[in-house]
Amino acid sequence: MLTDIIPAVLPMHGKAKVIIAGPCSAESREQIIETASALNATGKVDLFRAGIWKPRTRPGGFEGCGSKGLEWLREAKAATGLKTAIEVASAAHVKEAADSDIDVIWLGARTTTNPFAVQEIADTLSEMPDRFGVLVKNPANPDIDLWIGAIHRIYNAGVRRLSAIHRGFSVYGPSPYRNPPQWHIPIELHRRLPGIQLIFDPSHTGGKRELVRPLAREAYELGFDGLIIESHCNPQCALSDAAQQITPAELKELLDTLIPKQAGEPTTRMAELRSRIDCLDSRLLEIIAQRMALTDEIGQLKLDNGIAVLQPQRYETLMETRVAEAESYGIDRRFISSLLATLHEESVRRQLALHKAN
Ligand code: PEP
Ligand code: MN
Repeated sequence: MLTDIIPAVLPMHGKAKVIIAGPCSAESREQIIETASALNATGKVDLFRAGIWKPRTRPGGFEGCGSKGLEWLREAKAATGLKTAIEVASAAHVKEAADSDIDVIWLGARTTTNPFAVQEIADTLSEMPDRFGVLVKNPANPDIDLWIGAIHRIYNAGVRRLSAIHRGFSVYGPSPYRNPPQWHIPIELHRRLPGIQLIFDPSHTGGKRELVRPLAREAYELGFDGLIIESHCNPQCALSDAAQQITPAELKELLDTLIPKQAGEPTTRMAELRSRIDCLDSRLLEIIAQRMALTDEIGQLKLDNGIAVLQPQRYETLMETRVAEAESYGIDRRFISSLLATLHEESVRRQLALHKAN
């Protein structure tokens, strides 16, 4: 349990939520000063972000301006008073950030994926555990243990100003999102690490300007503590992630109209509905247990009669009929398919265990 951590960034100006904003990459002195000044003028930004070293998926993309950007960030901070944040991916990056005026560092999704890199960063931070607030993005792949592991490595280095950023997860194949949010994963992170400040990144999740607002709204509905949004003074000309960046004016308009929801007390009607859900869930569990008992019995019969555990034809028919029936109740096809697949997987696992034991 990380009971003694505190948020890496605090909301200012009496706001309930923390707002981090800035360009994907630092590109020039002018771009940094102009963007930081415009963001500061909104009165809504708590921390200015900019990537100095960019982990690009393919070679040949813009890999960041490098160390010279640190000087531009120092100037932006002096001009606006905004604290600054950069991404680090190695011990050398942490040391350079420490020698400059950077306040907060973040571990990007590709870095969190790699325990060697995270440990190298943690070892460097252990020499200066109070120097930075640290934000840990989720790994690119949907692996919650890898995410929690990275947070623990940074915590074990002595860092206490520690927060998590959810930026969606890579998937193969077409999707409306660049990195689908898979909300159940950050919700599970929150359950396992209840004290941690959880910030949402709609820019890298959506990958498109028009998805920033709906995603940010969903995150507020789900109780996230704040947002990190890519904002550029001239998004069309951005050297990286041009499609997802918004102008400081657009950011202000978005934040003006995005109303954070309160945790709130349930109404009497809600309490009544919840108690009905509690009853239904008990019945569901009872039915699942009965189903398991039946599939165990079938497993025994298969064993006695020399029949293989997996019967693809039966599985296919089961899926088809149940999905059609579920759809007649207005239940989403993808949802029910994945629920049935999970149930079936568990039956197969139990039957295989039985066959192995005999
Ligand atoms: C970024 O924040 O600029 C970035 C590279 O994000 P991610 O690590 O989430 O891909
Ligand atoms: Mn980016």
